[in-house]
This record gives sequence, structure tokens and C-alpha cells, in this order.
Amino acid sequence: MSERTEVNSLGEFGLIEHLTKNIEIKNASTILGVGDDAAVIDHFGRQTVVASDMLLEGVHFDLMYTLLKHLGYKSIVVNLSDIYAMNAQPTQVLVNIGFSNRFSVEALDELYEGIYAACEKYGVDLIGGDTSTSVKGLVISITAIGEVAPDKYVKRSTASAGDIICCSGDLGASYIGLLFLEREKKIYLENPNIQPDLEQEEYVIGRFLKPEARKDIIEFFEKSELVPTSMMDISDGLSSEILHLCKESNLGCVVYEDRIPIAEEMRKAAFKFEIDPTACALSGGEDYELIFTLPATEHEKLVLNEEISVIGYMTAPEEGRHLITPQNNKYELTAQGWNAFK
Ligand code: ADP
Ligand code: MG
Repeated sequence: MSERTEVNSLGEFGLIEHLTKNIEIKNASTILGVGDDAAVIDHFGRQTVVASDMLLEGVHFDLMYTLLKHLGYKSIVVNLSDIYAMNAQPTQVLVNIGFSNRFSVEALDELYEGIYAACEKYGVDLIGGDTSTSVKGLVISITAIGEVAPDKYVKRSTASAGDIICCSGDLGASYIGLLFLEREKKIYLENPNIQPDLEQEEYVIGRFLKPEARKDIIEFFEKSELVPTSMMDISDGLSSEILHLCKESNLGCVVYEDRIPIAEEMRKAAFKFEIDPTACALSGGEDYELIFTLPATEHEKLVLNEEISVIGYMTAPEEGRHLITPQNNKYELTAQGWNAFK
């Protein structure tokens, strides 16, 4: 077993110093980082976007199958995903942690290893946070800050009828990954001698444990001079997010089932669980892909990007919100996926 240093031996200030001593500032907008009462940022005439997310042990993550390093990485990524969903570039994060005495300095180091790896990958500065003990378990709350050219931010409420609906990457894999992890956990708890065999499911499990945010898509928009008419990230399943866009923009929609991007690995994995891959994409969650709308006239600009799928279009609100199957059946979309009884 490796060393265990009690947090008490460092004290709160010693711990914060220990966790933050190697920070090197990457963004010109970071004027003052960790070490004072507050950080100072200056976006030099650009606009600021702020988002916050909280992760609770037992609610949002299970340390039986989640490495602290992955958890640190994921907790940053899910916050950055919200900043990208506004068409902004993330620049700074604040990390608040609460932990019981179950966690040693080495454990927190592991968490921060993942946090710093994500900060490095996405070019953001860790500029502060808060540290506290908790009675039970681990709490991570992160605030992300980003910048965007004046009025280039993209809301959920500004799509128009006739706009095409697009999404990035592939959907549903993270949910299947979670199902595998939960199944293996159950088997392990019943018989700790059985070693889990998850190698074949590397893709779907990776999608759950170590998701990435779509920085590349925002960069593609900029390069291609595209500004989506509406956008959000896909954290609760495609169906629920499309309904958000429709509701906020007061529109209807048509989505084609066979256009929904599904990875081959996920299709095979869903088959093993005897569940419908489309249902996973519509109602799964934690994909951290982007869904956005564009005027139909911009369609051509998307052809070069294999990471973007056009899955349908927005309609007038009275036309309703529908999923069209390959057999040309029409179902009403609901937040749970679709409603086959209407
Ligand atoms: P205060 O008493 O003003 O809240 P703290 O002693 O909590 O200040 O924090 C000192 C500095 O360390 C601040 O810059 C704060 O943002 C930063 N900090 C505190 N906890 C963390 C953490 N878990 N991760 C990163 N920075 C932190
Ligand atoms: Mg504090």
C-alpha cells in the first residue's frame, strides 16, 4: 500500500498550498489567481460566461468504480461543456471540495491530478476555490468562467422554424458504460473473488468515466464563420435536450431516428443488455455532446465535419415534436425518449 498522509498534518492552509503550488497561469485574462481573498480576471472587452456544477458522492459518482483521477478530470469537463454550449471559450475554473477524514492527502492529490490534466488539456487556469471537511463522503463543486466576443454567445431560445438540428459525436454510450459498471459492481459485491471483465467495453465505459467536452466544435464554428441559432450540451439525453430547445424557442421539431449518431461499440453493448440503442441515445445521459440549430442555408459548411450529424429540423410549434422511424412511423417525443402510445 502507498503512503497515507492525514489532511490534519498539513492543516487547511497547508493543504491548499500543497494542492495549488504548481499552478502556472495560461490565460492573459487571469490577472490574479490562488492566494488572495478573490481572483481577478479581465476579459479585455469580451463578454464573460459563468457556469457552476456540483457533484456529490453517492448521487453523481460512485468511488467503487471511479478513480479519483478520472473524477477530477470529469468534474472539470462537465463544467467546461456548459461554457462551450454558450459558444464561449473557457478560461478559468474555481474548485470547491468538501471531504471526510476517509480522504488522505494522497487521495486529494489524485483528484487534483485529474483536475490539472483537464485544465491543461482545455487551456484553463485554476484560480481558486474553497476547502472544507464534510461529515460523510466527498463533495466537488466547480465554477467555470469563459469568454466570448460581444454578443456571440448562443442561447437556447433563439432557434427558428426551418433551422436544421445538429449534434456532435455519438450518443448513448455513456449510459451503457454506466450499466456495465453497475452490473460489475453488483457481481463483485456478491462475490469479491470474481474479477470484472470489462475490456471489451472499453469504449462505452470510457465515455462514462472520462468524457471530453467539445472544444473542437466551437473552434470549427469560429473557423467556418458559423454561429448556431441555438445550442445546449447533451447531459440528460437527446430527447430531453431537444424538448428544451423547442420549449425555449417556442417551436416544434422533426427528428429522424436513423440520423441519430450511434457508435458501433455502443450498438453492440446495447445488444448485450437487450436494450434499444435509440432509446439509450434519446434517454441516456452524460454524453456531453452539443446539440445546436443552424439556418438550413448553412448545411453545406457542415459536410466537411464528420463529427457533426444533421438529425432533423425545427418546425412551427403547432406541428408538434416528433421522431420519425426508418419505417416512417411517427412518434411523439417525450422527455423519457418517445411515447409509442400516442
Ligand atoms: P478565504 O478564507 O478567503 O475563503 P481560503 O483560505 O479558503 O480563503 O483560500 C485561500 C486561497 O486558496 C484562495 O485564493 C482560494 O481561492 C484558494 N483555494 C481554497 N481552496 C481551494 C481549492 N480546493 N482548490 C483551489 N484553490 C483553493
Ligand atoms: Mg475559503
